[in-house]
Amino acid sequence: MASSEQEINHLIANVALRIRQSLDLSDILPATAEGLRELLKCDRVIIYRFDPDGNGIVTVESVAESRWSLLDRVIKDPCFEESWNYKYRKGLVTAIADISAANIDECHREFLQKFDVKANLVAPILQGEKVEPQENNHLWGLLIAHYCQQPRQWQESDFKCIKQIANQVAIAIKQAELINQNYQELRQRKLAQQQAQQTYKFLQTIIEHLPVAVFVKDANPENFGEFQLLNPAIERIFGLDAYQALGKTVYDYFPFAQAEIFTQQDREAISQGKPLEILEESIYDKKLGNRIIKVMKIPIYNELHQPQHILGIAEDITARRQAEIELKQAKDELELRVAQRTQELQNAYQRLQQELSRREEAQIALQNSEASLRESERRWRSLLENVRLLVISLDREGKIDYVNPFLLELINYNLTEVTGKNWFTEFLSSEEQESAKAIHNQILQPSFSSSLYYQQKVIFPKSRTEKTIAWNCTQLRNTEGEAIGVICIGEDITEQQAIQKKKDEFVSVVSHELRTPLTSIRGALALLAEDKIDPQSEQGKHLLKIANSSTKNLVKLVNDLLELEHFESGTIELAKEQVNTNELMLRSVDRVQILANKAKVDIEIVESDINFQADCDRLIQVLTNLLSNGIKFSEPNSIITLSAVVQNLPSPSILFAVQDRGRGIPSDKLESIFERFNQVDASDSKTKGGTGLGLAISRNIIEQHGGKIWAESIYGEGSIFYFTIPTLKDEG
Ligand code: ADP
Repeated sequence: MASSEQEINHLIANVALRIRQSLDLSDILPATAEGLRELLKCDRVIIYRFDPDGNGIVTVESVAESRWSLLDRVIKDPCFEESWNYKYRKGLVTAIADISAANIDECHREFLQKFDVKANLVAPILQGEKVEPQENNHLWGLLIAHYCQQPRQWQESDFKCIKQIANQVAIAIKQAELINQNYQELRQRKLAQQQAQQTYKFLQTIIEHLPVAVFVKDANPENFGEFQLLNPAIERIFGLDAYQALGKTVYDYFPFAQAEIFTQQDREAISQGKPLEILEESIYDKKLGNRIIKVMKIPIYNELHQPQHILGIAEDITARRQAEIELKQAKDELELRVAQRTQELQNAYQRLQQELSRREEAQIALQNSEASLRESERRWRSLLENVRLLVISLDREGKIDYVNPFLLELINYNLTEVTGKNWFTEFLSSEEQESAKAIHNQILQPSFSSSLYYQQKVIFPKSRTEKTIAWNCTQLRNTEGEAIGVICIGEDITEQQAIQKKKDEFVSVVSHELRTPLTSIRGALALLAEDKIDPQSEQGKHLLKIANSSTKNLVKLVNDLLELEHFESGTIELAKEQVNTNELMLRSVDRVQILANKAKVDIEIVESDINFQADCDRLIQVLTNLLSNGIKFSEPNSIITLSAVVQNLPSPSILFAVQDRGRGIPSDKLESIFERFNQVDASDSKTKGGTGLGLAISRNIIEQHGGKIWAESIYGEGSIFYFTIPTLKDEG
């Protein structure tokens, strides 16, 4: 059933009225849907809005029965084709009278039937510059009328009606959106205003509390330089009242020349188009006096780049400048002082350095001289300590200052025992003390120049041994050259002197021994040579005999002496061989048999048959000498016994013994007879013949065999001469 023209107009007028009366879509749209459903007498009218993703939502509905409600359902028509979209954007209204019979896609049919749609009428809701249907308009949604109970043949008037209502809805939506947009803009503007106010307040608070003066001047030509804003600090810095100065210029407050300078600076800032900084500006104010300020002038332009304001920020730097000046003065003064002090320190350092190097040089020189002194002292000490010479130093009184170890060793004392003792009284024999003191004093004389040599017999109290020392003495001086004592270097010549003495004695004995036969020979030969005695006469023959025997004696003496000398100098070598005791004894007796016969002395051999190693001739020489001595000192008819036995103690050897029963030897001579020319009685060699060297030679021979020789005797009863020959192999 078609709606009448009148009814349609009425509905449209209603809708339009609502739109004018209310700007609220939630009020307009449901009423519109309701009105349209009533008008079309359909079961459901919905307003369907497309989402940007292609889906859609039922935003408004009017249903005859609640079972047909689709409100707030998100619906997507899977068969919605682009061609529909195109048609709708052109503002076309589509209608299907009977869904089940219509010539449409099966898919679309199924979709519609799902929502109980039997017939539908669809009009687009478009949005754009103009609400009239246009291709480039935006398809906001659809206004849809459904028959859910039976199909419906749509009338021309239905098309017209839904289209007009859809247009009204579009107008309402657009209007609502505009209103919403305006509302949003209004809100934003209000918000911005609030923010601006807050910012302004915030800035004002800051400016008011800034410690620097802030002022804003008008930069428009007609009001150029008029104060538009000043903060309270302006009073403290420029002496202006922030409130009263508004609308005034610098000419109202400062002398003309000063005001001109300020204005000139403002113009300069504007003309250069960037902030102008005046680092230092001297100003004068009656109230505040002279001050130094620092100012920044910032030009502010409008969007047409016309100068609007000059923002000034000024700071009073009087105190700072003053402090800087004072600081600089203090710094300069300090620098000056530092420089002076540095110079002083450098000078002192140089002096110190010079002093140090002077001291160092002196130290090195001292060390060098000390070192060389120490070295020389060390050398001297080492020399004195090690030299095999006797060194002693005495003070002026003759007290011992120093003795070297060699002297201490000789006298068997230690240093502390002798230091400080008087040398003359403690160590010299009484007969030498005076002469030694005299020499000591002589050396101490200032005129004394060289060293003095003299000898001294020194008695060493510990051993009471007497030593003869040859001293070489000289003066000991201090650094001033004064004699402070005497130093002597000595040599122990005791042994040398003894040897010399022995030599002298030997020479005198030998010359005596030589002289005796020589005198006899010379006397006899002289008598014969002077023809005083006929050599053929008995007396002559006797003299020749004497000369001959003396010559023999002389030759023997010389030979013995030479032999002894050879033994003592070690030039005689033994010719050792196997010898037999019996053979040795027999051969020796043979040699002296004539002499024994003459003296009517018997020689008895105690037989023994021992073989051993020895120089056969030399042992015969020893045995012969002992036998001939025994014969010489025996009375006629006495017996000499010769024996040789083996003995094991103290070491294996052959012990020979020659025993006579003659004169015997005093016990004090038993040892000395073995020395050369030593006799029991001085006349022995004269009366008994012999050189006095026999026993000395014998001792040499035996000792060279490694044996010993000695004599035992009971004076008046006879003597036994023993000697041993070791039978061990040569030790060497
Ligand atoms: P000489 O060749 O003069 O005998 P010796 O050296 O053999 O020299 O003897 C030294 C001295 O020893 C002798 O002059 C003598 O006084 C003494 N003398 C040596 N043998 C005996 C002895 N058997 N009895 C006593 N006196 C002796």
